[in-house]
Amino acid sequence: MSTPPSQMEILSWLREEDPQRLEQLWRRADEVRRTHVGDEVHLRGLVEISNYCARQCAYCGLRAGNGPLERYRMTVEEILGSARQAVAFGYGTVVLQGGEDAGLTRDWIAGVVRRIKAETPLAVTLSLGERADEDLAAWREAGADRYLLRFETSDQRLFALIHPPLHDVPSDRVAILRRLKALGYEAGSGIMVGLPGQSYESVARDIDLFRDLDLDMIGIGPFISHPATPLGQGKIPPTPAQGDQVPATEGIVYKAVALTRLVCPEANIPSTTALATINQRNGRELGLRRGANVVMPNLTPVPYRRLYEIYPAKACITETGDACNGCLQVRIRSIGRRLGRGPGGRGKRPGSEAKTVRPPNPATQTTTAHTRVVSTASL
Ligand code: SAM
Ligand code: SF4
Repeated sequence: MSTPPSQMEILSWLREEDPQRLEQLWRRADEVRRTHVGDEVHLRGLVEISNYCARQCAYCGLRAGNGPLERYRMTVEEILGSARQAVAFGYGTVVLQGGEDAGLTRDWIAGVVRRIKAETPLAVTLSLGERADEDLAAWREAGADRYLLRFETSDQRLFALIHPPLHDVPSDRVAILRRLKALGYEAGSGIMVGLPGQSYESVARDIDLFRDLDLDMIGIGPFISHPATPLGQGKIPPTPAQGDQVPATEGIVYKAVALTRLVCPEANIPSTTALATINQRNGRELGLRRGANVVMPNLTPVPYRRLYEIYPAKACITETGDACNGCLQVRIRSIGRRLGRGPGGRGKRPGSEAKTVRPPNPATQTTTAHTRVVSTASL
């Protein structure tokens, strides 16, 4: 319980398949979550404000090349309506998310943020892709509190393949995350797990990078194939070493969430909608029991939801905000957790920034095919 897990240990855990050993990892992640961020589950109302996007990400259904997709952009009044709904449900934060949409101009977004801050007590999180420094600065000035920008994978070769440059400018999401922090935002990032061509080693490096960046929020979800994308159509065939491809399963996502909790004990970590999509029965709850402390109920007006189809069969696509809210509250209480109140920002305790937690080290424990001799020294 003192030194951080090394990248090798993280890698070893990602490959771990013994249910009893994994049970120890879940328990450890849950303890660390309780110690550092408590039993409250913070609710962030998600408003998908636009599905226009200039980018051609090979994984995402909103990519510009998906011609048949009907596009929408919410009006200011619609966004304000969703924000008021967040207040009525007792949420502390509203998350405005969208594609990289030039129609969401600097001034327009700044105006929306100002109105939300003036008319509600909500914290405002933005997730609008890679925007110019001037935009990010103006939105911070207008009152935006947080910004989410996943780096998706730390494997630069794979990222360049699945996230082509826009106007010939290569993406550097890590540099943008550093700028966000310098501007005073709480910075959130994250990854998809199970991308074709993604190796276990690179996911271990991703988790190490979360630690290096000292992120305030970290979202981890499974990659879900979309048939209207190059990845979904098998048009991009990366070739990782055999046996090295990380699967897009819920099991690997739980491992990544639990290990992330151990290396970033104070971060806000959502149990993601993508996880709830691949296990609609109890994926959300299992994420919360294995390190997560945030959920993001959908407050997008119902007619727009089916159009924000980043991947197929997205969870909660037909429920109203009311139904989503009720369902999530029941799920949270069913696992003995409390609903968070207030903005639920990252609670940095004095002198706690460097705290990381060591998981049991599978690399140093003897294994047979069916049993493991488990050292309890590090538990
Ligand atoms: N446009 C912004 C951006 O890219 O950061 C925000 C919206 S984007 C739809 C939000 C996130 O959706 C991405 O960061 C990515 O991780 C996730 N996403 C996109 N396509 C996905 C897929 N096929 N499976 C799982 N997650 C996906
Ligand atoms: Fe656009 Fe974001 Fe989808 Fe990429 S992931 S196509 S930037 S909405």
